[in-house]
Amino acid sequence: MAYVSPLETRIARKTTKAIVDFNLIEDGDRIMVGLSGGKDSWALMQTLDQLRRRAPITFSLVAVTVDSGYKDFRHDRIASTCKERGWELHIEHTSIGDVIDDVLDSNATPCSLCARLRRGVLYRLADQMGATKIALGHHMDDFIETLLLSLFFGGALRAMPARLVSDNGEHVVIRPLAYVSEDDARLYAKACGLPIIGCCCPACGDLSLQRQRVKRLIFDLDREHPGVKQSMLKALSNVKTRHLLDRRLNPSGELRDSVALRHEDEDASPDLIQISS
Ligand code: SF4
Repeated sequence: MAYVSPLETRIARKTTKAIVDFNLIEDGDRIMVGLSGGKDSWALMQTLDQLRRRAPITFSLVAVTVDSGYKDFRHDRIASTCKERGWELHIEHTSIGDVIDDVLDSNATPCSLCARLRRGVLYRLADQMGATKIALGHHMDDFIETLLLSLFFGGALRAMPARLVSDNGEHVVIRPLAYVSEDDARLYAKACGLPIIGCCCPACGDLSLQRQRVKRLIFDLDREHPGVKQSMLKALSNVKTRHLLDRRLNPSGELRDSVALRHEDEDASPDLIQISS
């Protein structure tokens, strides 16, 4: 079965690379796909379904939609779309929206609490449904935005893992679109005729000021210097821990001196090696 377009081919290749690089899917897996109805989750579902049909291993998919309880949420359109395509779907109706209203001040950004509550629901459902992994639709832009947000406002050098084992070791969360751009995910969901469903909460589409600023910064930089995003993505897999200031990563005292001697040549540029030899 051939891919239908260069876009589909590109997304399939990038997703396969992430799956291989981080061992995201194994033979016999039952993958629970978090399907919010947004473009990214549709792109993820469609891509994994394509890969499943041609993969040399066997794995199954079940989509799960967590309904936060907002009255205009079109879970019926998610259900009809999945039915048309033969995708197994479970919709979990919850009162997450009410909980957020009760707990947060009206001017607070609800998304991180919402994400935590949804994650709890997904973990519970994964147990009930015998899912071995939970797939989320975060893409390359999410990874690099999170990196800059953390760098600028969080005082930590971190992004998000492509594969995460929960603290209690019982759940594995995977992000197969780690190498796929947001633009490609959007185009793919549209090209496949998948309906983009808003979550219908009051904060829907309302990014925090910090995230908006970071998105704009990356957009402007990438326009001036095409390739900036790819470079940031590459940096995430090319960490030079000895060139950072985290003492937990770098041995101190005598041990550091002996390790430094061994690694000195590794870090020197070709020019420096030539000069010193
Ligand atoms: S926009 Fe609303 S539904 Fe979406 S993550 Fe934020 S709080 Fe949750």
